[in-house]
Amino acid sequence: MPDIKLNNGVKMPSFGFGTWNLAEGEEVINSVSEALNAGYRLIDTARIYSNERGVGQAVRKSIVPREEIFVTTKLWPGDFGFDSALQAFDESLNRLRLEYIDLYLVHWPGHDANRRQESWRALTEINGKGLTKSIGVSNYMVEHLEELLETSNVVPAVNQIEFHPYIYNEQRPVLEFCQQHKIVIEAYSPLTQGRGLDSITVRDIAERMDRTPAQVVLRWAIQHGTVPIPKSATPERIRENIEVFDFELSAEDMKTLDELSS
Ligand code: NDP
Repeated sequence: MPDIKLNNGVKMPSFGFGTWNLAEGEEVINSVSEALNAGYRLIDTARIYSNERGVGQAVRKSIVPREEIFVTTKLWPGDFGFDSALQAFDESLNRLRLEYIDLYLVHWPGHDANRRQESWRALTEINGKGLTKSIGVSNYMVEHLEELLETSNVVPAVNQIEFHPYIYNEQRPVLEFCQQHKIVIEAYSPLTQGRGLDSITVRDIAERMDRTPAQVVLRWAIQHGTVPIPKSATPERIRENIEVFDFELSAEDMKTLDELSS
């Protein structure tokens, strides 16, 4: 799996593993371990997932060296504010029991512009100390990104948003804005949380390509230049989902999938 270069020069894997809904303890430890064994090198968690301890444990006990694993966690809006964001970061680092985090994201923009901007200032300070290699945002729409770029000199490296064929049209403005500003899009819920995989359109393409519906929608996200982070608690699916770097969807199939959102 190729790496991609973020706008600050840091390398990030072009595919990742999501952990939302994986229970703290055995479930998250086993799933993240399975993912690392299958070749995933980017692990996505958040304070609000309540599984940072298990994620950290799986990363620390893996035979894959720490520097080859890209760990992301996130700041919840309940912790917004300069000092509380610094404290929330420390607490995440302590639960993960890691020396640094690769990517720290503002999880949601929230409703209070001042507190959002203060929090971003805290992230830039954490980044300056090297405690996180990169910083970014999540669920930011164009208006939030414009505000950030007007009030800070530090451009987010990543914007993590919901991205799959059924939401393509809605997300096009933010996708294009991010591409213009060299902000990498991470695609969350890239499998539509499992719900959209039964559509005839997706199944037809999958059958013709001799792939699974999950692989088809993940490949679609990759060909749109995004970094998908599918979640699974099922070992076979964890392995299936990462097998998406040895085939390509035609321009016509891409368009057919794009049109699922119109
Ligand atoms: P996904 O789109 O990744 O779907 C996960 C669901 O799909 C699970 O129910 C899983 O079941 C099922 N599934 C996995 N693989 C397959 C397969 N090959 N075939 C059929 N079904 C499959 O949803 P998520 O919402 O979890 O998104 C992925 C990650 O993105 C999250 O885990 C989280 O890390 C991040 N995220 C970030 C958000 C944010 O606000 N920043 C919001 C939401 C998600 P099973 O586990 O039983 O195998």
